[in-house]
Amino acid sequence: MTETLRAVLSILSEPSGACWSCGEMRAAHFCSACGKVQPPVPVDYFSFFGFPRKLNIDEKRLEQEFYDLSRKLHPDVYAQAENREQQWSLEQSSLLNDAYRTLKDPIKRTEYLLRLEGVELEEQSKSATEKARASGEIKKQVVPPDLLEEVFELNMQLEEVRAQKKLGEDDPALIEEIGKQKLALEEKYEALLSELKGYWADWDKLVDCGTEDDRRDVRNKMVDVLNRRNYIRNLVRDVNEVLES
Ligand SMILES: [Zn+2]
Repeated sequence: MTETLRAVLSILSEPSGACWSCGEMRAAHFCSACGKVQPPVPVDYFSFFGFPRKLNIDEKRLEQEFYDLSRKLHPDVYAQAENREQQWSLEQSSLLNDAYRTLKDPIKRTEYLLRLEGVELEEQSKSATEKARASGEIKKQVVPPDLLEEVFELNMQLEEVRAQKKLGEDDPALIEEIGKQKLALEEKYEALLSELKGYWADWDKLVDCGTEDDRRDVRNKMVDVLNRRNYIRNLVRDVNEVLES
């Protein structure tokens, strides 16, 4: 057997690497040689767009790729194609939409990357909630330490408003005070996004050359920011419920 023949056979024995139609090597969605749509392969959303697993992404390029692929995968293009090509283009389309929606949103992108890294955000907040319930500290989540004082005071004030409303009373000064605190919380909520983006830069540097310890450290910081953000969001929701009731 010649070297060339051996090489050809090795490509053929790995069908995931070769175009189903012409046998050339293919890109993730379309064959670069003949342009035929390819059956979807399990890839993460970053790889789907050909991006590294970094958090600072070229948003312009993401958008361009999205519109370009959307057009190429449009059902009209496959109206005359054989069934399996129609099917693949639909599957690729739905993958494309999920991948785009996830990566273009800074929070979803971060949460997605953390999941790829094996961090279960929901599990984590669930266990924190259960711990808090068991200790009777607070009904929902563990209070971020830097918010402890404010949250304590705000919850007291919310209780007071609830009690007043039951009695049909009204305290405009208290409502105004709560409104001010809500505004401050909303500002903190926005600031957390900037803090998170600061960790993106740290993460991206570590992707290629960092140690696992360094990476874990940055992951934990990002998880912490996301948890604090969720906590504030729930708190603002509570405030709104009381103010609107
Ligand atoms: Zn091909």
